[in-house]
Amino acid sequence: MEFGVLALQGDFREHRISLEKLGADVSEVRLPEHLDGLDGLILPGGESTAIGKLMVAYGLLDAIREFGQTRAIWGTCAGAILLSKDVGTNQALLGLMDITIERNAFGRQLDSFVIDLPVPFLEPSQPDYHLTFIRGPIITQVYGQAEPLMTLPDGRIIAARQRKLLATSFHPELTSDLRFHRYFMEMAQSQSET
Ligand code: GLN
Repeated sequence: MEFGVLALQGDFREHRISLEKLGADVSEVRLPEHLDGLDGLILPGGESTAIGKLMVAYGLLDAIREFGQTRAIWGTCAGAILLSKDVGTNQALLGLMDITIERNAFGRQLDSFVIDLPVPFLEPSQPDYHLTFIRGPIITQVYGQAEPLMTLPDGRIIAARQRKLLATSFHPELTSDLRFHRYFMEMAQSQSET
């Protein structure tokens, strides 16, 4: 399987390392032609406004929209914001997922936190997952074809899936736990339904 990591800004290197540990071929995507032949793409954490502007500048907004019609995309944090249809402000978005996002929903950088939670769809016999939030977003609405996947104990949604599209508010790439990356690789492998 061939995977790409959008490498315009943010923590794309960490995603690359996680996928490589699982044996995937990984390349960095900076131009539309870099998407050719990929089975899946990761949009990393970073600053969604900066990544969005660079996507527009390099012609990647339309190219990734098209890619996401048939192939897998996973957005972590800023990447999840970019997958959404609405963040309540005017910034470049892919608009691929039927989700609404509230950016920086937990406050400022200093309010970043980690929480350990069980993730039943990821090999439930394993230990809790160490979830890292860095000025992360909350998914405030999930509608249409999207489904909520994970919530915090207070009910706020932190992960959603729509066909082969996955959005998480947190950063599995900043841990050594590869279960989310494996889950994404399996998603990318599953039969395509559009
Ligand atoms: N706060 C950033 C944004 O709104 C996301 C932060 C992150 O990706 N860790 O784009």
